[in-house]
Amino acid sequence: MTTLIILFVTYLLALFIIKQKKLFKSDKNQSHLICPQCKNKLKRIERTNQDKIWTLLTFYMFKWKRYNCFSCKWEGIRW
Ligand SMILES: [Zn+2]
Repeated sequence: MTTLIILFVTYLLALFIIKQKKLFKSDKNQSHLICPQCKNKLKRIERTNQDKIWTLLTFYMFKWKRYNCFSCKWEGIRW
């Protein structure tokens, strides 16, 4: 039980660090997001059920959006 609590607290801390450091955050200064692989423009695509689970798992702290790149087929989520 104690292990579970430690794991949960660690998980919460990790979420706070992501929020603080703005990891995986979409850059609001740019009109288009840039692909991390080929630096081309990313397009918003429909969220999958998996992304909705992520939103739940992160306690609605992040609004995950799914993007993909038409040049190199990169796909990922940002908030
Ligand atoms: Zn790309």
